Amino acid sequence: MEKETRKIGHLDMDAFFAAVEQLDNPTYRGKAVIVGGLGPRGVVATASYEARAFGVGSAMPMAKARKLCPHAIFLPPRFPRYKEISDRVRAIIHDYTPIVEPASLDEAYFDLTGSERTGGPAEVIVRTIKARVHAETGLTCSVGLGPNRFLAKIASEIEKPDGLVIITPDNVQAVLDPLPVDRIAGVGKVTAHRLRGLGIHSVADLRGATLDVLVHEFGRYGRTLYQLARGRDDTPLRPHRETKSVSRETTFPHDIYAPEEIERIVRRMARVVAAELRHERLLGRTIRVKVRYPDFRTITRQIRMEAPTDSTYLIEETAAALVRRRVRIADDGVRLLGVGVGGITTATTRQLPLFGTRNDALDHVVDKLHARFGVEAVRRDGHPAPENGNESMDRNNGARYSESGGELG
Ligand SMILES: [Mg+2]
Repeated sequence: MEKETRKIGHLDMDAFFAAVEQLDNPTYRGKAVIVGGLGPRGVVATASYEARAFGVGSAMPMAKARKLCPHAIFLPPRFPRYKEISDRVRAIIHDYTPIVEPASLDEAYFDLTGSERTGGPAEVIVRTIKARVHAETGLTCSVGLGPNRFLAKIASEIEKPDGLVIITPDNVQAVLDPLPVDRIAGVGKVTAHRLRGLGIHSVADLRGATLDVLVHEFGRYGRTLYQLARGRDDTPLRPHRETKSVSRETTFPHDIYAPEEIERIVRRMARVVAAELRHERLLGRTIRVKVRYPDFRTITRQIRMEAPTDSTYLIEETAAALVRRRVRIADDGVRLLGVGVGGITTATTRQLPLFGTRNDALDHVVDKLHARFGVEAVRRDGHPAPENGNESMDRNNGARYSESGGELG
């Protein structure tokens, strides 16, 4: 049977922060409103369309925005209010599909594949969502529908603001070809410049380039560009907030010297990170410790686990083993310690617990005690002596040591 064409939607609120300010303060309507950091190094978060007419845009230094549009109304962001509306919009989308991937406060992807069997054709549902967002929030949004997330986002941008564009397998190339290459997500100024150097300005030009040329110029990303130029993108939606890592780090007011104290601090941070993973219903695959020395040299040491985990036991013992065995504590001590868990997946894909249910149950109890008494109040006893525990962990999980010089994500 032929694979069903996916129906991916992308909803993007129009000039979101500025539009919310205009919604809540009718005297701002029809006027240039610029929301962002108002301090000397502030940056524009969102400009209303009235301000955009003066060339003001997102991520622009506020000082420049003030020069371009001195008569604008300048406001600091009110994130709790934006979050409230963002949640409302997401709830509307959730009425039509459980697969919703928030991309930011004002953007979300959603999967309507197979909606005909339940809620009707995707083309009708996106119109309903768009109408409901306006009716229930008073704000406009732009919506795109396409066979994948790349095309859905392209579609939502084409008729912004208040747009609705549907890309189907039949019109993909007609829609894509005339677009400038920098409309492709991931093509920034540098890549666009290099593409122009190859005579590639539009997506049609890009489609004319051979795979060999693109891979030669851009490595692996060249392969992606080759596919995107043809409107191909298999990236699945991640129906939870995108979290690349969960980590804690602390810079100490005074450098720390004693190895036992360093390990104690690492263990405490590991327990906090594990509890946060469980709270967010996430699992992590790599466990890292980060150490910064007084001369600001920074190292990380990490282990990739055989399977994703949220176990306090595994994360704490692994982090402690890393810092004990793999980190040189010089005479001049350390100024910063961090513990992080990366390779994040959602706990819905949970596998059987590696150590049986005992540790899961214990973790649950520890979480509750933490919540009541704070992290310092609880230490678990009764698990194997640390050295033995680490040896068995290495064997059972097939954990591989690896090193990297990077920062915790
Ligand atoms: Mg937006």
